[in-house]
Amino acid sequence: MKKVALIAHDKKKDNLLEFVKKNIDIFSKFELVGTGTTGKLISEVLGLTVKRYKSGPLGGDQQIGALIAEDEVEFVMFFRDPLTSQPHEPDVQALIRLCDVHNVAIATNISTAELLIKNY
Ligand code: PGA
Repeated sequence: MKKVALIAHDKKKDNLLEFVKKNIDIFSKFELVGTGTTGKLISEVLGLTVKRYKSGPLGGDQQIGALIAEDEVEFVMFFRDPLTSQPHEPDVQALIRLCDVHNVAIATNISTAELLIKNY
């Protein structure tokens, strides 16, 4: 089974949590992976098993990128905060680029996420 990757910048974490909660039946069918803090939040609050990688600024986005490069990821939910400067912006861009290279769906906001999840 392919993996679903969950990542949210700090100001978007509550949005992602709500989104996963609302669609928990779908998310629970997948093997979930996530960056450190996002993964911890989702597993602690919703009780889902999430394999946690490093926090985004410490390399977590790149670790998820490596999974995408190996074609292990079905889709990515990456709720970005476009209004706050991120120290790891190059890593964020690299992750999005790898999704395009490997033709992996990535939702960077709730509207896209809502459309994407309708396929499952
Ligand atoms: P975090 O990382 O889940 O550890 O907060 C997300 C990010 O900033 O890319």
